[in-house]
Amino acid sequence: MTNKKFYLTTTLPYVNAEPHIGFALEMVQADIVARYRALTGDEVFFNTGTDEHGLKIHRKALESGVGPQQYVDEYAAKFRDLTKTLDLYPGLHFIRTTDPHHKSAAQEFWKRCFANGDIYKKDYTISYCVGCELEKTASELVDGKCQLHPNLDIEHIHEENYFFRWSKYQKPLLEMYAARPDFVLPGFRFNEIRKFVENGLEDFSISRLKEKMPWGIEVPGDSAHVMYVWFDALINYVSTLGWPEDAAQVEKFWGTKERPNGVQFAGKDQIRQQAAMWQAMLMSAGLPQTKQILIHGFITSDGQKMSKSLGNVVNPMALVDEYGVDALRYFLARHIHPFEDSDFTTDKFKAAYNADLANGLGNLASRIMQLAATHLDKSDLSNLGRSDLPKEYTEALDNFEIHKATEYVWDRISALDRKITETAPFKVVKEDAEKGRAIITELTTELALIDLMLEPILPATSKKIIEAIMGNYKPENLFPRK
Ligand SMILES: [Zn+2]
Repeated sequence: MTNKKFYLTTTLPYVNAEPHIGFALEMVQADIVARYRALTGDEVFFNTGTDEHGLKIHRKALESGVGPQQYVDEYAAKFRDLTKTLDLYPGLHFIRTTDPHHKSAAQEFWKRCFANGDIYKKDYTISYCVGCELEKTASELVDGKCQLHPNLDIEHIHEENYFFRWSKYQKPLLEMYAARPDFVLPGFRFNEIRKFVENGLEDFSISRLKEKMPWGIEVPGDSAHVMYVWFDALINYVSTLGWPEDAAQVEKFWGTKERPNGVQFAGKDQIRQQAAMWQAMLMSAGLPQTKQILIHGFITSDGQKMSKSLGNVVNPMALVDEYGVDALRYFLARHIHPFEDSDFTTDKFKAAYNADLANGLGNLASRIMQLAATHLDKSDLSNLGRSDLPKEYTEALDNFEIHKATEYVWDRISALDRKITETAPFKVVKEDAEKGRAIITELTTELALIDLMLEPILPATSKKIIEAIMGNYKPENLFPRK
């Protein structure tokens, strides 16, 4: 039962823009699950990092007048800072697709697919959206434009490229989907990708001519070509574990064909790459499939898509500066649905902060802390552990329903608030010290249980509360009103 291995990864943000709140959402969702699994006793491997090759980055680097390496170094540092700002799991693994080990792993992966007969060279013309870094079929274009990037021109690239035999994997993918009914969550996203694969798969190009686009990993045995950015980037999920050299580590966390163990978080624009391209690549290279893929929605800003041109992009760093990291983590956990699109506005954020953190948790914790510090000894308190976690909470998090787990914790906070009012410990302890202490012990024990459940969601706050309960730290106002 104990010491299970748990692997999870975010997708790697593509480093062509400043970190926005969408990245923060995926990282915090994954982090809450990682911390929860560690709390329940699992050995956790949690991966994130940066996706650093491709045409879009190459062009941006040239525009900004620096070399691509310097450009990606600067962005990778920003994203690494974001993982610290968001207070992600301390054992986090941060991979960059420009790491030398990742590059050699991607080349080895290519060789295995090639040896399996799944890579071939062909002369062709594609319609390509640089915004998506994806090839577009005629049926995906509206008036010759990508629907996601109507202000960008579709590029028509004619060249000789390597192709991956995706078409060969239509049947194996559909069989795998049929055998694993919870492979993609939520179910409506699973249906979406199943329909896409049922409609037939076209082989996709996996290289670019180096003379046109030099910023990529060289194709093994053909130095005139570099790998297409998706083919390279997806491999990070196993290269981060030391694949191919460290077979033991890969088996331990990524699992085996009989017992796949890798869990991936991704946005709704990523389903094709994660649930179909990557899965076919794994089959081709002879590696186990992903165990489960969790697809989250997008955060809209006051009902509109966030975009630079609308000027409504929410910067997570600024929110953390003003409200603290746990305020942001709280909002993402409770008020952003784990699977559907959700709206963000500063007014909603501030209202939630004041109601649930300043007046809710902050006020409750400080009242009980004050009572405990004045009237209890450490020895009055019992230690709580993972076996004390309530079923409502563990079931929600086992199903990745982060909002439900958080809501459950806040229900307990409200109930404890009512209990203080009902039991009037401030008054009772003056009249009957022993009876008062008994009430305060009960209230403090309930706060300690709430605190344990908060650990994955608000790690810094949780630490302060438990330290205060143990008498090592004088509680201050954890969430001053804004
Ligand atoms: Zn596009």
